Amino acid sequence: MIILNKISLKFSLWFLGAMLILEVFLFFFLHTSIVNSRIEEELQALQARGNSHRDVLEDAYNKETLHHIALMESKTDTEVIITDLNQNVIIASSKLDKAEEQVISHNIKDVPYSGSVLEDRWRSEKYISTVTPFSINENPKGYVYMFRSTDQVQNLISRLNHHFLAAAIITITLLIICILFLSKALTTPLIQMKKATEKLSKGDFSVHLPDMGDDELGELSRSIKILAADLKHLKEERVEFLASISHELRTPLTYIKGYADVARRKEIKKIDRDLYLGIIYEESEKLADMIKDLFDLAKIDKNTFAINRVQVELCSFLHSIYDKVLPVFKEKEIEFEIHCSHSLTVMVDPMRFKQVVLNLLDNAIKYSLPHTKTEIFVKREKGKVLIEIKDEGYGIPKEDLPFVFERFYRVDKSRSKDSGGTGLGLSIVKELIEAHDGNINVKSELGKGTTFLITIEEMTE
Ligand code: ADP
Repeated sequence: MIILNKISLKFSLWFLGAMLILEVFLFFFLHTSIVNSRIEEELQALQARGNSHRDVLEDAYNKETLHHIALMESKTDTEVIITDLNQNVIIASSKLDKAEEQVISHNIKDVPYSGSVLEDRWRSEKYISTVTPFSINENPKGYVYMFRSTDQVQNLISRLNHHFLAAAIITITLLIICILFLSKALTTPLIQMKKATEKLSKGDFSVHLPDMGDDELGELSRSIKILAADLKHLKEERVEFLASISHELRTPLTYIKGYADVARRKEIKKIDRDLYLGIIYEESEKLADMIKDLFDLAKIDKNTFAINRVQVELCSFLHSIYDKVLPVFKEKEIEFEIHCSHSLTVMVDPMRFKQVVLNLLDNAIKYSLPHTKTEIFVKREKGKVLIEIKDEGYGIPKEDLPFVFERFYRVDKSRSKDSGGTGLGLSIVKELIEAHDGNINVKSELGKGTTFLITIEEMTE
């Protein structure tokens, strides 16, 4: 059962309208040309018959021939009237009626030897007729009039009309059936997609769309599926993110609350109170750090933070960072080197890019033991600039590597927390690098060290 919805109804009506107009034109032209050629044939046949009577008359003009012709015609559905030059009837195949009398009463002049059509208005007149002159011994002698009743022609045409009508009814019925199926076939995928997007807008991301091939509809269906998957992922990410935030904020707050509760007791010793206050201070600082990081991420997410890219000479930029952080490395007895001697210009936001490098160096310090080495390498590779930050620290287990850029992801939770990690640093680094149209990757081997690789576009004149 075909149920028409708005779009298929609209489509069907348009299509049907267009096809009907086309069909009416086609049928009209076909009908007129068939009718015209039928009439033409009839007239030619009538005239040919008149001409053959003339030939017979010219061969043997006598009473017998005249009778013979009249007799012959009286047995057919055509009529013959033979007149003299003044159009007085010599002989006729049947009794003349008014219409015939009227035709032969018209003056005719200069009729060609091959004859001519006298009446071809088959719709309004009683007869179609032709006339052929005949001569005896080269002297014009008279005319052969041929008549054919238009009733027969009209019958013929009306039969033709019936055929046309039947053909039209069959074609229109077939057309309507075709259109219904076609419109259903075309609009079903559209309706499925409409339902899918409605489901999406209501927050239901379980979209099931059949494979719709390689055409535009197929592409649209694939895009909707991708959109649904993306939205689902985003929703899950948001839920996860909110859960992580509340979890991450709750832990330091529990400490703060607990130690504050103990610290405010009167009987507590000053030395213990100072210890508790120290812990409260530390935890508050962690909270402040985390909130700052979250704020940074929120700004990146909302695209409200502006990246002010300017031309930066990369090596001197990295050297200035190196000079600043070297004391921290020295304090932790980690060797720190930079290898950058090329002249490389990049377009970066110095503040944000510094944040990236500092974050990575900070991790290298946090996750390395004393007497190891951290190095910065800068290379030019395939028209791009590659910055490597390599440490000889704890390394990251293989199974954790794909997730280190995710928010709140920490490999070793206790170690990261001890070192004041929030699990947000690398996700901020990744977002910032991507905002610079760059790329960041990580290579690591447990117990050997970790290398972060940043690729950005080199500025060329
Ligand atoms: P955190 O604030 O915990 O350092 P990050 O997002 O900066 O958060 O890093 C995520 C996790 O990746 C860290 O908890 C740590 O386990 C691991 N990690 C990051 N950098 C390094 C490194 N250089 N060496 C070893 N592990 C690292």
